[in-house]
Amino acid sequence: MKYLDEYRNAELVKAYAKKIEQVTHNAWTLMEICGGQTHSILKYGLEEILPKELTIVHGPGCPVCVTPLEMIDKAISIALTPGVIFSSFGDMLRVPGSSDDLLSVKARGGDVRMVYSPLDAVALAESNPDKKVVFFAIGFETPAPANAMAVLDAERKELKNFSLLCSQVLVPPAIKAILSSPHSRVQGFLAAGHVCTVMGFEEYIPLADGFRVPIVVTGFEPVDILEGIYLVVKQLEEKRYDVENQYRRVVKKEGNLAARKVMSKVFRTVDRNWRGIGTIPQSGLALQSKYSIFDAELIFDVQKIATEESEECIAGEVLQGLKKPFHCSLFGNKCTPEHPVGAPMVSSEGACAAYFRYHKQSDITLTSSVSD
Ligand code: SF4
Repeated sequence: MKYLDEYRNAELVKAYAKKIEQVTHNAWTLMEICGGQTHSILKYGLEEILPKELTIVHGPGCPVCVTPLEMIDKAISIALTPGVIFSSFGDMLRVPGSSDDLLSVKARGGDVRMVYSPLDAVALAESNPDKKVVFFAIGFETPAPANAMAVLDAERKELKNFSLLCSQVLVPPAIKAILSSPHSRVQGFLAAGHVCTVMGFEEYIPLADGFRVPIVVTGFEPVDILEGIYLVVKQLEEKRYDVENQYRRVVKKEGNLAARKVMSKVFRTVDRNWRGIGTIPQSGLALQSKYSIFDAELIFDVQKIATEESEECIAGEVLQGLKKPFHCSLFGNKCTPEHPVGAPMVSSEGACAAYFRYHKQSDITLTSSVSD
């Protein structure tokens, strides 16, 4: 297959649904860790054509959703500093911090700008030598090489007014944390194709082996996702626990070696706080000490900012696959995409936003808690 619409072909979708039905003999709970996959599953109604034995839960795969509250407060504090241009991808601008969001800072006169690449932020620093330009580097492994390139570009141009506010996270430690929880019911994973495009899938092999869970690297279109589910279920029914690659048209076992090299040159792994989940050891990327002059947390002295999450938002349980968004008492009433309480309702990749947009109301009222 060569074109996108072939991966949305209704006949192929039905054929894969049939294959999944034929191979499923037991009840299984699978998790995807990718906001793009969450949205495809909801948008195309894929859950509705799966056998009732299969439960799909949505892991911490939305980069905006897992960015901790204190990082958003740090971003807001920096953006309020005179002489700063604070730059970010669009989704982060609306994420509520403890009492504000970046868009409100912009409305009050703060110089907050939406950019499409960290290299755009480097260009801003170049053209505004009298300002300090900060880029909010969030997300998983996928954008990390571009963030690393921005630091190297700023170094090459000898820019002293560019920095990163780093809140980058890594998928394999999150899978390990989810599987290590005594509450986890996840028995198989769809791994995110774009993350594995960069990192490959060698890191997943000891996880699949050690926790006895199949992990299938999967793409984002309906046919991709159904094939990924089929491969996971087939392994579970055959009591196999391997890593397989459904997204062969893009992902290599070793990933993109050039991208990995630039990442490891600029970043080191650190413990990182995940919103709603807590600190996961060695699950984040921070700048190597050699590049600490580009570290916004050091430049603006915001390391001590601490916050407390809303007690009513159950994003942590949603992001660990313990509950679905509609189990939250605020879902669809006090928390909507227009007035989000938590990050999963803000981001276009968030599970709460996906359920709000695509899930049928009848399913929302009839489905019981997955943790029951
Ligand atoms: S619906 Fe809103 S308040 Fe509830 S878990 Fe999702 S983001 Fe949090």
